[in-house]
Amino acid sequence: MLDNHGREINYLRVSLTDRCNLRCIYCMPEQGVEKKGHEDILRFEEIIKVVKTSTTLGIKKVRYTGGEPLIIPGIDRLIYETSKIKNIEDVSLTTNGILLSETVEDLKRAGLKRVNISLDTLNRRKYKSITRVGEIDKVMEAIDKCIAIGLNPIKINTVMIKGINDDEIQDFIRLTKELPVEVRFIQLMPIGEGVKLYEKGKLNFDEIIEDYPDLIPLREDKSSTAKLYKLKNSKGKIGFISPLGCKFCSSCNKIRLTSTGAIRPCLHSEEEINVKGYINNEIRLNAALRSAIMNKPMQHYFEAENSNRSGKMMFQIGG
Ligand code: SAM
Repeated sequence: MLDNHGREINYLRVSLTDRCNLRCIYCMPEQGVEKKGHEDILRFEEIIKVVKTSTTLGIKKVRYTGGEPLIIPGIDRLIYETSKIKNIEDVSLTTNGILLSETVEDLKRAGLKRVNISLDTLNRRKYKSITRVGEIDKVMEAIDKCIAIGLNPIKINTVMIKGINDDEIQDFIRLTKELPVEVRFIQLMPIGEGVKLYEKGKLNFDEIIEDYPDLIPLREDKSSTAKLYKLKNSKGKIGFISPLGCKFCSSCNKIRLTSTGAIRPCLHSEEEINVKGYINNEIRLNAALRSAIMNKPMQHYFEAENSNRSGKMMFQIGG
């Protein structure tokens, strides 16, 4: 379905929980989040209803995220049920990778073909300090396992923050020489705990790209959010994602569903429609999804002063 700005909306990003097993310094407060009751969080059956209804409006791709989606027991069942839905062509997952190596074979059997793994440093000690609690070895083990069992593509999401991990750009680029992964450098956004680090930590990727003349530009697919490159004879790719400056709002193809049942037209919307109370009412649910698509804003306003008016954090919306 086309929105009011002529964009084809075919992608639903679903947050399964706002809880996480890490506490990344730019994302979640150290003390974590207030626990929601089970009754406040969508059940798998409810998520499946929303996905099914969304397919009647043109949704073809679903990504599960959070919080950390792999802390939800039985997520392989959800992936299986989702991939069986008529017109769903792609089911994917964004995870911090901590629990991935122990679950990825079940997830693949359930229908998962590809995965995005968040990893902001290749240094063990720095990983602990960025995530406050994480063990990098588990993530590296998960990446190896995803490669071994043939998930494709495997994307590594790396939020680059000046003064914290921008000294590792070369190391991440080098990783793609040997590993068939797409490392995607992502700009820090002024959302959640990121607001506190933003002014000091923001980076201009156009300037960074100029510092790496051995990067060979690749042709981008129209809906890609990343500027893609590769090194000569490398197995992997490198992407630069600059969400600030609205570089890809004009080709944005997604709407979001939060774990508490709110449909959001844009990561940054103030507007959301909570459908939890009427998920079994097909007509109302359909109207809410249609309205979210039609009212999707032309662009986000992250850089405007006092812009995070909804006050929602990335882990609550679903990153
Ligand atoms: N727990 C999963 C993970 O770590 O991938 C999924 C949820 S996490 C919120 C999704 C992505 O959002 C991660 O790649 C994380 O680095 C990113 N993220 C969180 N806060 C951010 C911010 N302020 N700016 C940019 N990316 C952010």
